[in-house]
Amino acid sequence: MTNLLEFDRDALAAFCEQLGEKRFRATQLFRWIHHRGASDFEQMSDLARSLRDKLVGKAVISAMPVVSEQASSDGTIKWLFDVGAGNAVETVFIPETDRGTLCVSSQAGCAVGCRFCSTGHQGFSRNLTTGEIIAQLWFAEHHLRKRLNLPEGQRAISNVVMMGMGEPLQNYSALVPALRMMLDDHGYGLSRRRVTVSTSGVVPMIERLRDDCPVALAVSLHAPTDALRDDLVPLNRKYPLAELLASCNHYLDKAPRDFITFEYCMLDGVNDRDAQARELLALVANSGVSCKFNLIPFNPFPESGLKRSPEARVNAFLRVLQDGGLVATVRKTRGDDIDAACGQLAGEVQDRTNAKTRMTRAPVRLHRSDSTTAQAIRAGRQETNA
Ligand code: SAH
Ligand code: SF4
Repeated sequence: MTNLLEFDRDALAAFCEQLGEKRFRATQLFRWIHHRGASDFEQMSDLARSLRDKLVGKAVISAMPVVSEQASSDGTIKWLFDVGAGNAVETVFIPETDRGTLCVSSQAGCAVGCRFCSTGHQGFSRNLTTGEIIAQLWFAEHHLRKRLNLPEGQRAISNVVMMGMGEPLQNYSALVPALRMMLDDHGYGLSRRRVTVSTSGVVPMIERLRDDCPVALAVSLHAPTDALRDDLVPLNRKYPLAELLASCNHYLDKAPRDFITFEYCMLDGVNDRDAQARELLALVANSGVSCKFNLIPFNPFPESGLKRSPEARVNAFLRVLQDGGLVATVRKTRGDDIDAACGQLAGEVQDRTNAKTRMTRAPVRLHRSDSTTAQAIRAGRQETNA
């Protein structure tokens, strides 16, 4: 059985042709799936009967089973999806006044193994398919529209960040068609500035993304020197800072008004001293990369042995960057009461022996934060419309 969520519009057209149907019918079908959230071919009233009949029994439109759903008091919602063989991935919806952001996973586990990351500590299980990546958006968008009772034509999700579990650029061939579906006007119609790929620095794939699908790029920097970055982000030994920054510059060649977002996880006594902020200033100035800094307070988990920098330290570090002329902000921590904050996504790969009990965890009741979520979306859309 073929899952049609695996296909971007070109691939769907090829599939329709194989069934002996005209390519243009694929656009109609694609819109039913992604615009309207349909999963039943009978619902697709204006789709040729011949095509509907051929699809039944050959194809399905289906997301992975939801294992659990948790809602934070701040309106953040986290879903855990079962991707089989004891693995699961997490997806997080973060409502803000002016946007609704979905944080999407690209892999079950991650092979990069950053010291401060809970996903990295679990090791790598497998790449998600294109369908499993887009299913997170398909499910969340249509589920939220219904649940929050959004008026016809109003979207719940305005931004996607590939900042969930996994290193998206180590799953490149599945990632790019999923990104294209996010940008496609017949799909989710997101502008390329509202779709962000976050990477720990897979240099050759940054180069390819520039040519194939140049969405917004966030680079997880975390250290001003190779010695420290080698230790925190092991991939740095393969692609050191000079190469990484050169590829950032090259990425921006084609879109001079764009910038790279540098993410920097603030670790107590490790990378948070004023002297290190000054080293960062020099590094970035020498590279000439047009950028913004996003400081992320570290979200601790027991196995890391690391601590979050105190707030005063984060603010002092921020000031050094800002006084040096950089645009820098501190990321607000959202959803930490449900372990949905950056670097806390654990899925099921962490502890296989425990997988059974965790997989059967009862879903949390949602009513209270649902209204927080709905309010945030409505308030945001009113502002947008104003
Ligand atoms: N693999 C990609 C995207 C997923 S991680 C990457 O590394 O960029 C998304 C962001 O969360 C990255 O910037 C990562 O450095 C950050 N992060 C990971 N663990 C964290 C933690 N425990 N606390 C705060 N941020 C963390
Ligand atoms: Fe992988 Fe990103 Fe976590 Fe590093 S921070 S281990 S690259 S998910």
